[in-house]
Amino acid sequence: MKPYKNKINRIRTFALALIFIGIVIMYVGIYFRNHPIVMLIFMLLGALAIVGSTGVYAWIGLLSMKTVPVQCPSCGRHTKMLGRVDMCMHCREPLTMDPNLEGKEFDEAYNKKNSKA
Ligand SMILES: [Zn+2]
Repeated sequence: MKPYKNKINRIRTFALALIFIGIVIMYVGIYFRNHPIVMLIFMLLGALAIVGSTGVYAWIGLLSMKTVPVQCPSCGRHTKMLGRVDMCMHCREPLTMDPNLEGKEFDEAYNKKNSKA
């Protein structure tokens, strides 16, 4: 398996994980119901994680507007690209917007503005 994931998918996974972390933290808080202050702290942290994930989802919404829909040359399905290089959401084929990078080895560092590639 390639170490890279499509960025949008990766952020979405992160947002989902954040919800679960929030629920787990709140669940742990229940164990401290004899210590209301500790429980309250856990509940607040859990709520914070969930609010954070909502923020991440909103961020995905904003990022989605900047993505470029392309047809993957490898699997022929439609995917969304973010930045100069990204992966196909379906087959993880490395895609690039920059013809200079075509055929080069996939490297997420190309997304950095000061890249010399
Ligand atoms: Zn593909």
